[in-house]
Amino acid sequence: MANLKDVKKKRQRQYTDAKTVANKQQSGAQLACLDLPKGMNSFYFKKEGTYYMDILPYVAGKNNPMADEGYDHWERTYFAHKGVGAENKQYCCLLKNWQEDCPICEYRQELEHKGANEDVVKAYWPKKRQIMAFIDVEDKNKGIQIFEGPYAFGLGQLIDNKTNAVREGSPVTRFYYADGGMTLAVSTKSEGFKTSDGNTGKFIKPNNIEMESRETSYEDLEVPCLDELLKKPDYKKLKEIFHKGVDGEDEEEEAAEPTKNGKAPEAKKEEKAEVEDDDDDDDDDDDDEQEEEVSEFDVGDKVKHPRYGVCSVLAVGEDGKLKLKDKEGNTHRAIKASEIMVAVKEEKAPEVQSLKNPKVEEEE
Ligand SMILES: [Zn+2]
Repeated sequence: MANLKDVKKKRQRQYTDAKTVANKQQSGAQLACLDLPKGMNSFYFKKEGTYYMDILPYVAGKNNPMADEGYDHWERTYFAHKGVGAENKQYCCLLKNWQEDCPICEYRQELEHKGANEDVVKAYWPKKRQIMAFIDVEDKNKGIQIFEGPYAFGLGQLIDNKTNAVREGSPVTRFYYADGGMTLAVSTKSEGFKTSDGNTGKFIKPNNIEMESRETSYEDLEVPCLDELLKKPDYKKLKEIFHKGVDGEDEEEEAAEPTKNGKAPEAKKEEKAEVEDDDDDDDDDDDDEQEEEVSEFDVGDKVKHPRYGVCSVLAVGEDGKLKLKDKEGNTHRAIKASEIMVAVKEEKAPEVQSLKNPKVEEEE
């Protein structure tokens, strides 16, 4: 024992990086799709109010769908599967991002061939999302942060609306320039939604942006290549993780296998609830996902059942019935969606990102 102690003392200390840990806690929990540079945080809108953001340009790498390599661009559009596996993580889609075989898309195609209900199939479509590098004008100490969120109903769509509306050559179209760019004033709103049985939920979503000219120049900042932050999953590993979630750690996989003429699931969460944010109160909890247009219950959703409490959805049958897992780990099958009280926050608020202008030519 004494020896061991001595040995320990001699060992050179290797401190963990506090920022990296904070980063993991903030976003690592859900975002299995990004590899953020050390010390860099991910960001999403957490509360109602106005955020002041300076979006930064980076040099586009290979395969950016919106920008040619070598051009300064401000966002990376990508596709992700949400709520994957028992831990409900978000993974990059191998098919849409890299044109390779994707186990989740394969499963989706199987469902389609079997004639599964469209709504069920939809849950397995990869969703369009974006990341952007930006500086929070009111919290510059954080340095460059990475904004991640859905395109639809997100910041990206708002930015696009803005840039599409102005005349060519307007300074608005140069909002992300390191020098001579603009500050985005992004207003967010907590939006509630109600289910048919009267329960409510809410999510934070950007609902307006204004652009203000800015003096600050970011010419000297080193902005990471966003195209290199996407984490490409390993096919086999992803398949394993995915099926564990779909089949439910235990036996059957039937619950999720739609059959022919499946009927539509009856339960839906109401409108297109994009995201429901459960905990709007704390700002820093660990999840940070956002959502997008949700249709109904997805595998991985958290829902509240009157008898079983908060459960996660393990599988969605073609008949719309759900397989749930409660907090104790017990599974409950064939739950009608109508029995569910409300979707408990799925992750968190939607946030940001955006953009879609096709390749940006810097100058024309
Ligand atoms: Zn996929």
